Amino acid sequence: MPAISPDKPYRVGRSRTGLGLFATKPIKKGAKIVRYFGPLLDCRKKKHDAIENKYLFELNNRWTIDGSVRKNIARYINHACKPNAESDVSARKRKVVIRAIKNIEPGEEINYDYGTDYFKAYLKPIGCKCAACEKKRKKKRAEARAEKLRLKAKAEKKALKKAEKQAAKAREELEQKQNQKLKQAAKQRLNGARSNGKLLNGHGGTTAAGQLTAAKSGIFAEPASTQGEEASASA
Ligand SMILES: [Zn+2]
Repeated sequence: MPAISPDKPYRVGRSRTGLGLFATKPIKKGAKIVRYFGPLLDCRKKKHDAIENKYLFELNNRWTIDGSVRKNIARYINHACKPNAESDVSARKRKVVIRAIKNIEPGEEINYDYGTDYFKAYLKPIGCKCAACEKKRKKKRAEARAEKLRLKAKAEKKALKKAEKQAAKAREELEQKQNQKLKQAAKQRLNGARSNGKLLNGHGGTTAAGQLTAAKSGIFAEPASTQGEEASASA
């Protein structure tokens, strides 16, 4: 990291994209923060025009500052779409100054907007990582998650309804079967009574006991189990 005089209101530090410039003292809106400087390149000179790096700051269609030099602390300032500083360009003086456009608190990262050309060439292809763009992306992700959850809940509700419907149908079918069984059993008992307890005592005989059981048990009202016990007990 470059050595910076302690009376400067900034330091170089880690940012979300690598290194960045951070305020160490309050910086007032409108105050000059740091100069963006480096050798002046004249695009009319072939040698100058051939230079290509990420720190070229175009002043006008002839002059460009090559800010890639190590001493140019301003090159650590990252781009932001909603910045707290701006680049104040004086093409006539061939000078660029980074100036606060908001009051900046100690600890805050200093940013300025690099401009459309830089954005299109370098940031758009990889996705801008500035706080505003990250916030936008976060919001989009949250919305996508919420939508996914909503769809999942909807599907679960639908599945639950289907299962409930199936269970109700199964219950209905079971009840119908049971009713049929009961009816059949009642019919058989009735027949049994008529045939002198033939079915109740299981002996097929026309004994007095059989007749008695059938008469005593009140076949239609009592559950089958008690009746069975009674029948076998008395038989
Ligand atoms: Zn951005």
